[in-house]
Amino acid sequence: MIDLTLENAASNPPPASTLPEPQPPVPAVSPADIIPPVAKIEVPVRDVWVLLDDWCQSNGFSPPRLMTTGPQPVYSFASSTGVMSVKIGSQVALWNGMEYRLGFPPLIFAGRPYLHSLDLRKNFSALTGTFLAPDTNRVIVLDPGHGGSDSGTSNVYTGHFEKEYTLDLARRLQALLLARGWTALLTRSNDSTVHLADRVAFAEQHHASLFVSLHFNSAFPDRQQSGLETYCLTPSGMPSSLTRGFSDNPSLVYPNNRYDDWNLQLAVTLHRALLNVNGHDDRGVRRARFLTVLQGENRPAVLIEGGYLSNPREARQIADPDYRERMAEALAEALTGSEALRRTSIASQVPPMAPMTNADGKMN
Ligand SMILES: [Zn+2]
Repeated sequence: MIDLTLENAASNPPPASTLPEPQPPVPAVSPADIIPPVAKIEVPVRDVWVLLDDWCQSNGFSPPRLMTTGPQPVYSFASSTGVMSVKIGSQVALWNGMEYRLGFPPLIFAGRPYLHSLDLRKNFSALTGTFLAPDTNRVIVLDPGHGGSDSGTSNVYTGHFEKEYTLDLARRLQALLLARGWTALLTRSNDSTVHLADRVAFAEQHHASLFVSLHFNSAFPDRQQSGLETYCLTPSGMPSSLTRGFSDNPSLVYPNNRYDDWNLQLAVTLHRALLNVNGHDDRGVRRARFLTVLQGENRPAVLIEGGYLSNPREARQIADPDYRERMAEALAEALTGSEALRRTSIASQVPPMAPMTNADGKMN
C-alpha cells in the first residue's frame, strides 16, 4: 500500500493556470490522510448580502412569497426548474422539498429577506442546474468506507460492521453500472485497510470522472436519530455544516473546489434518489471541509451516509440485502438516467406550495 505523504499528495496539483500556488496545509489528525489546500482567497467584503427580491428578478424566479410568519419567517420562490424555500435565521433550506444547508442564515433588513452572495452563487445558482452524467469516459470510482482494521460503526440489530455494508452496497452498485456500460471501480474489493489519501490517488490513477464514497452513520448511544445525509466539499468562503471538531478555515481552497457546482448537483441527484428508497427520512445535503476523500478529488465527488446503524429501524433495513439492492438500483438509475428522465422525476416530486399566511399569521 502506498503511504501518501504531504509531498506526494502535493506533487499532483491542479494546473497553475486555474489555481494559485499551493500553501502549507493546516494541521490535521493523520499526516498520511492530509490533502493540502492549494490557495487562500479573499472573501468579498462588498455586496455580501443581496436583496432576495433582486436576485429572484434577475434569475428567473418568482418574487419571494412569505409562507409563514413569526420569529423565523419562511419565504418561497419558484422558477421553471423548481421551488426554493428559505427560513430567516436558519441554514436549513429546501429545494423541491429536499433539504440542504446554506452557508449563512438568511436575514431580514428593513422588512425584506436578504441572502448571502456566496449562497446565491454556490447554492442557488448551482441547484438550478441539473447534474449531467458524463457522455464519454464514464469511469466512476466507488469508495466503500472503512475496511480492514477500520471497521467503522456497527449495526445495533445484527452486530455487523459498517465496512461490510459499504462494501456490499458498492459491489451491488458496481454490478448495475457495469451492466449499463459504465466503468465502475472500487477503492477496495475486500476487507483491506486503505488510507484515505490512497482512495483519492486511486481515482486519479484511473482518470475517474466521478467519485462516490459510501458510508453508514451512527449516533450511538442515541437510538432515535435516523435518516439520509449526503456530503460535498464546502465552497471556499463558506462555513461548513459539519466540522466534527476539525478546524474549518473558510479561506482555504481545495482541488475539489473547482467542481463546487457539479458536487452539489451530484449530491442532490443521488440524495433525492435515495430518499425514495428510505421513505424520505431527509437529513439533508450538507457541507464538510475536513473529509479527506473529497478534498483532493479532481472530479465531482460526494460522500453518502446511507442511514443510521444506531437506529434499530434503519439498522434492520440496512441489514436486509433487498434494501441494499434497492439503494444500489436507485443510485445506478440516478447516475445513468437521462436529463429528461431526471427532470420528469424531479417535477413529479415537487410538493404543492404551502398555503400562504396573512400578516397576522392565520392561514388563508
Ligand atoms: Zn463511515
